Amino acid sequence: MITLLKPLMVNITILFSFTFNANLFFPFQAKVSLSFKQKFNYGMIGALGALFCMFYPIETLGDTHFDFRTMAILILTLYGGWLPGFIVLVAVLVARFILGGHFLYVGITVSLFAFVIPLLFRRIFLKSPYKIVTGSFIVICYFVFYIAILFDAIRFLHLSFYCTYFFVFYVTFIALIYVVESLIRINKQMEEMVYLDKIHMIGQMAASIAHEIRNPLTTVRGFIQFLSQDSKDEQFTKFSPMILEELDRTNHIITDYLNVAKQEPFNLSSLSISQLIDDCVQLMRPLASYSNVEIEFENRTAFYVRGDEHHLKQAIMNVIKNGIESITDRGIVKIDIQPNTSNNSVVVTVQDNGRGMTEEQLKYIGLPFFTTKTQGTGLGSMVTNKIVREMNGSIDYVSEINKGTTVKIVLRGATS
Ligand code: ADP
Ligand code: MG
Repeated sequence: MITLLKPLMVNITILFSFTFNANLFFPFQAKVSLSFKQKFNYGMIGALGALFCMFYPIETLGDTHFDFRTMAILILTLYGGWLPGFIVLVAVLVARFILGGHFLYVGITVSLFAFVIPLLFRRIFLKSPYKIVTGSFIVICYFVFYIAILFDAIRFLHLSFYCTYFFVFYVTFIALIYVVESLIRINKQMEEMVYLDKIHMIGQMAASIAHEIRNPLTTVRGFIQFLSQDSKDEQFTKFSPMILEELDRTNHIITDYLNVAKQEPFNLSSLSISQLIDDCVQLMRPLASYSNVEIEFENRTAFYVRGDEHHLKQAIMNVIKNGIESITDRGIVKIDIQPNTSNNSVVVTVQDNGRGMTEEQLKYIGLPFFTTKTQGTGLGSMVTNKIVREMNGSIDYVSEINKGTTVKIVLRGATS
């Protein structure tokens, strides 16, 4: 028994150590489609892990080689997709080929199954909130094929060996899923912390300078307006609107910064979401018609959310404004409200048919200073995110380049 346990422990340690190291160099993230380079890197790490497992076989009676190499294929294919899985598979197949022996075909078949089965169930697994359950289902499916092949080819090993092997395989597999999920969660929390830290930093910076700039700016604006009213100077009359416009823009930027800086407590009350959005739409209409954009909003659902009216209006206006700004000439911004009574929430979708965003841009949206506009501050989405989060809501962006963007904001209902 002890001779069996030792290599088992080594295999388990190898798999965990490779998982942690992979996360250290290439942190695991949820819901982010991996780039080719990342997939390749994960694949190479997995391949190395699988080969290490093969160095420490659990049982080599006759020509058989039992170890946990297929676990690497399973996990990599499940989380990373076909490319990393395939890299591990090729490495394993080559190594197994070199080992050769009578049971070569068994080794190859079980490795192939470890690649194909997770590929089939990958989508379901990734979407499922119950990863342990779906993971168990997948590994049991795999076991069915595995055992069938063993039953056909290798009957001479002890039943107790098989039981131990499969039991430990199952437990290790589930533990690995648990570890990967925990690492994803921890990475997300870390990201969130860095994000909040950045907001805080900008807030302090902004608060210290914004007021100082704004006051003289207002004075300058007032004087220019006053002087331009009855000035005889042609040049001055010609350029004063431009000066005013630029001053207004500067003021706008300062307002954006101050919004980040504001640590005002929320003034919570019960708000009719359709009324609130209607107000936002009215306020955005001038900008929309200036850019030939139609705002479509049917004010019909009476649903109440608990929130701060001023902040929430600002959050939604930022989203509508981005939608309008994404359209270069003629377009439509559709706003819709869908209450979800089952969990007492409401989903506000703001959809535009503007220029859309690339995957790369989608990753950065909401981070301070990320902007693709020459006159943007890159603070609007960040303020929106902050407000929605503070109201216990969530915000999600789906976008396709040249097709448009859909922003989904989920808000909690008034009684929750
Ligand atoms: P700003 O509007 O000042 O650039 P935001 O934080 O509001 O800052 O937006 C950041 C960036 O995200 C924008 O510059 C733009 O590239 C992108 N973006 C946001 N909303 C949309 C949208 N609806 N369509 C296309 N791109 C968008
Ligand atoms: Mg904006």
